[in-house]
Amino acid sequence: MLDITAKVIENRLLSEKGRIYSLTLDSPELSKDCLPGQFYEIKVGGLDSRFLLRRPFSVAFCDDKTVTIRYNVVGAGTEWMSGITPGQMLDVLGPLGRGWPVDKTKKTLLVGGSTGIFSVLGAASHLGDKSRAVLGFRSCDLVNSVEDFKAFGVPVSIITEDGSSGRKGLVTELVKEELDKNEYDTVFICGSTLMMKSVAELLKDYDVDCYVSIEERMACGVGACMGCVVKIKADNEQGWEYKRACAEGPVFNAAEVIW
Ligand SMILES: Cc1cc2nc3c(=O)[nH]c(=O)nc-3n(C[C@H](O)[C@H](O)[C@H](O)COP(=O)(O)OP(=O)(O)OC[C@H]3O[C@@H](n4cnc5c(N)ncnc54)[C@H](O)[C@@H]3O)c2cc1C
Repeated sequence: MLDITAKVIENRLLSEKGRIYSLTLDSPELSKDCLPGQFYEIKVGGLDSRFLLRRPFSVAFCDDKTVTIRYNVVGAGTEWMSGITPGQMLDVLGPLGRGWPVDKTKKTLLVGGSTGIFSVLGAASHLGDKSRAVLGFRSCDLVNSVEDFKAFGVPVSIITEDGSSGRKGLVTELVKEELDKNEYDTVFICGSTLMMKSVAELLKDYDVDCYVSIEERMACGVGACMGCVVKIKADNEQGWEYKRACAEGPVFNAAEVIW
């Protein structure tokens, strides 16, 4: 894990109404050893910032020299990030956490909801046509990155809650249709807790391995503060223990999560 000052080479608006951006850093140091499903902690507000906590973002994809993250503007930190210009320096910590158990011999269904699509995009960049993505959004304003999945060779289906893009409904419907084809060995899910819980519940009826990325609100991001703990089944008296999403996760085996 590195704490690096990296140069921004792009901060591109992907969806004006949805306020979604793609930010690329020029940093071979940060991209080296970066695995899909891991994340970076970005110091917002500038190098002399008074924002106390860094903000975590999943790696969307990386190459030998660059790292790209994608973000939705939701509060003060991401609002500040939306004003970043190329050439600006950012203080970035990472890569952090444990990512997806990517295995190119296994046919994998990638399930993303809202900003959870960025973490599964990381897996798509490694799996290519060994995977398929089903992505759910609230409305067409938030639909983004579909072309990137396709560019990695991954077929994509979209569903929106209001039917303004793709089919109308919830992503669980698409997951069920895909699983009924009996083609998949593994499922990776990242989205709201409610969505991940519903999909994980549905998967109990199928013989597939399922992993979830739990993007809990986190403070330190490096396992020190215990602010992002999740309940995980354990072989002890109470049957569970707390694990840190930032250190032991954010990716966990769905069968072990107590929702
Ligand atoms: C491991 C991890 C990976 C993440 N990856 C991405 C990513 O790739 N792209 C992306 O857009 N976002 C991602 N997030 C969420 C992102 O970190 C937050 O949206 C960001 O920190 C908000 O900062 P802010 O200062 O703009 O908002 P704040 O002012 O801190 O919060 C604004 C609102 O957003 C809510 N919020 C903040 N963080 C979270 C969270 N983790 N889960 C649910 N609600 C939250 C707050 O409750 C509040 O209502 C990730 C979070 C984690 C833990």
